[in-house]
Amino acid sequence: MQYLPLFVKLTDKPVLIVGGGSVALRKAGTLLSAGAKLSVISPEFAPEFLAWQAEGKAELLQGYFEPHLLDGKLLVIAATDNDDVNAAVYEAATTRNMLVNTVDDQPKCGFIFPSIIDRSPIIIAISSFGTAPVLARRLREKLETLLPQHLGPLAELVGRFRDKVKAKFQGFAARRQFWERVFDSEVVRELEANRPAAAEQRLADLLETQPAREGEVWIVGAGPGDPELLTLKALQLMQQADVVVYDYLVSPHIMELVRRDAERICVGKKAGAHSMPQQDTNALLVQLAKEGKKVCRLKGGDPFIFGRGGEEIEALLPENISFQVVPGITAAAGCAAYAGIPLTHRDHAQSVQFVTGHCRKSGDEPDWYSMSRPNQTLVIYMGIMKAADIQQQLLAAGRAADTPLAIIENGTRREQRVVTGTLAELALLVAQQQVVSPALLVIGEVVSLQSQLHWFGQRPTAAVFSQPITNLA
Ligand code: SAH
Repeated sequence: MQYLPLFVKLTDKPVLIVGGGSVALRKAGTLLSAGAKLSVISPEFAPEFLAWQAEGKAELLQGYFEPHLLDGKLLVIAATDNDDVNAAVYEAATTRNMLVNTVDDQPKCGFIFPSIIDRSPIIIAISSFGTAPVLARRLREKLETLLPQHLGPLAELVGRFRDKVKAKFQGFAARRQFWERVFDSEVVRELEANRPAAAEQRLADLLETQPAREGEVWIVGAGPGDPELLTLKALQLMQQADVVVYDYLVSPHIMELVRRDAERICVGKKAGAHSMPQQDTNALLVQLAKEGKKVCRLKGGDPFIFGRGGEEIEALLPENISFQVVPGITAAAGCAAYAGIPLTHRDHAQSVQFVTGHCRKSGDEPDWYSMSRPNQTLVIYMGIMKAADIQQQLLAAGRAADTPLAIIENGTRREQRVVTGTLAELALLVAQQQVVSPALLVIGEVVSLQSQLHWFGQRPTAAVFSQPITNLA
């Protein structure tokens, strides 16, 4: 860390600005908004400085910089258009161990001004230390849109109730639960609608009513792997959970976004590998919710597409445990988009079927004939271990041997790999290319569009992370 971010209380603190032009003006505006006591030295001044002097906000000293002007100052800003003067200010300040900012000259900066997102009392400061200002600006714009305007009034209200809440709830966990309740409550809605008095009343009411601590289960789809494919709702719940119950399909990059002090329980779920039986997972969810916990049941893709989300809900219902389901981007949608395969296409496929290659018992065989019709796309989940059987059944049911297919391994993740070939080569490709889990089979005419459309240049196997198809031209 080249610079340490500190929040400095500048109210009534003496600060010297050297320079009286437009650059100095910008810094002066920022410093005044923090309440600094400004002195400005310059042979001449922009009109705004004169106005500030008239209002008693700044002291203007007409003349040239001299080191003794630093006496008694907390900070100094060198903001002239003369490099020699700026260098002299920097030298004099550094000799005195004073913090100096030289505008647009990062090596001569003992401190820097970050970009600021102001939701006072919440302040966010961003800086790339001058290395990537455009990136820092984009980040700031992104955060600006994420942070609602009522955040400031909310934080201010929280600040006013802090002592009362502390007196009422012993221990950090109890206080955290109370505040979580507040942030999900009408208090926020009132502030959004700009009704601060009503918000305060609601908060006072909440403090008086003591709800039984009720557990809840959120069955959340985490998408196929790229964390940017999470829904906003999924992210919010991952941040609120007391405990996260996840399976192997949830990528480590996604798990990094879980609230840091949440408990994490892995229940496996990988064909052939150790995993918790579904009944045990169901029982675990019930038990955790009964302990009063907010449980985030995080699942790969979408919870209702080969995700056994329905079975988990069936276990919660008789226990009267409240739950919600948050959909996610299913592997078929994510993998197809990142591999450059449109699942339907006016000329090539009028329908798409999602099927599982992993049937529960032998009587549950899929309808191979309906899956073998031409001009439809077949997406097979959990099909890799049964590749030879799938190939044989589809060919026997009449699907053409030269039907194009893609095997998408680790779709949407950094290590995504796309292997293409024909239906007749399916088992061979899986063995030869040593395809690993998770992998998805996409079978149908649409796969041929992948190379024709030159997605990512010519290479259909390009590994792309965080970047779905963007250029169809
Ligand atoms: N509920 C999940 C599917 C769970 S079944 C969803 O909606 O996506 C598990 C199967 O999904 C895996 O065997 C694999 O076929 C597929 N799958 C899930 N994530 C994948 C990924 N990132 N890349 C390729 N296949 C994936």
